[in-house]
Amino acid sequence: PGQLMAGKKGLIMGVANDRSIAWGIAQAVHAHGAELGFTFQGDALEKRVRPLAKSIGSEFVVPCDVTDPASIDEVFANVAQRWGQLDFLVHAIAFSNKDELKGKYLDTTPDNFALTMNVSCYSFTAVAQRAVPLMKSGGSLLTLTYYGAERVMPHYNVMGVAKAALEASVRYLAADLGDQGIRVNAISAGPIKTLAASGIGDFRYILKWNELNAPLKRNVTTDEVGNAGLFLLSDLGTGVTGEVMHVDAGYHVVGMIKTGSARQ
Ligand code: NAD
Repeated sequence: PGQLMAGKKGLIMGVANDRSIAWGIAQAVHAHGAELGFTFQGDALEKRVRPLAKSIGSEFVVPCDVTDPASIDEVFANVAQRWGQLDFLVHAIAFSNKDELKGKYLDTTPDNFALTMNVSCYSFTAVAQRAVPLMKSGGSLLTLTYYGAERVMPHYNVMGVAKAALEASVRYLAADLGDQGIRVNAISAGPIKTLAASGIGDFRYILKWNELNAPLKRNVTTDEVGNAGLFLLSDLGTGVTGEVMHVDAGYHVVGMIKTGSARQ
């Protein structure tokens, strides 16, 4: 590979294991020379994240729970101390109570609505607030979203509402930060079997549906999301901000699928 990320330093938030989308992005930018720091949520995940980071030459692994503002402050104090600046940030964090990732959106409780919005939407703005002062020579912020923000997907419920708000916040942040040379984008990934996805009801059916109905007739991989991330985080993407880029084997363009059997 080339060295599209040579000299760039970036923080990857949201690796849980080697199936995480954040890990796919980390590998893609590492292969192009990026220097990386990682955050993990909770002691249990440290055991997973530290060896992964080490495997690509990083010892910069720090805890962060985005529901705790002091813990976010500490992460960026750490970045400031180690690097003094930051070139890019990947936010691949979402959470909702599993009980509400099935059944009807109508049944969403106020507590889980607030929690889902805080972790899955507001946290991107919270980390942007702290990353921006470190992006002294411009930068690139990237988050992860899903088609359930745009259209109703079974079981996605309150997470779809949070992702819609996250996509809107990408646009507002892009407008706020453009004059500082900071770009803000999202990747709308097709369904991928990860830890977070396992909390969504009937996820295997969603995977199968996408495989059968997406123009490319398959699901996407974390490597493919990683390569799109490389584009948006590197100088290949300098003309792109405020964008929600679909990496979903084309699923989002389909209105109705031609089955053959439906007509004959
Ligand atoms: P994952 O389980 O590997 O990653 C989710 C991460 O969120 C974990 O690392 C978890 O520790 C972190 N997290 C949750 N609550 C947190 C908190 N309070 N503080 C800090 N971190 C917290 O699953 P993933 O599928 O790789 O998810 C990454 C992102 O991609 C999420 O935003 C998800 O919604 C999005 N996404 C996933 C899919 C999919 O099908 N897997 C599709 C589109 C978008």
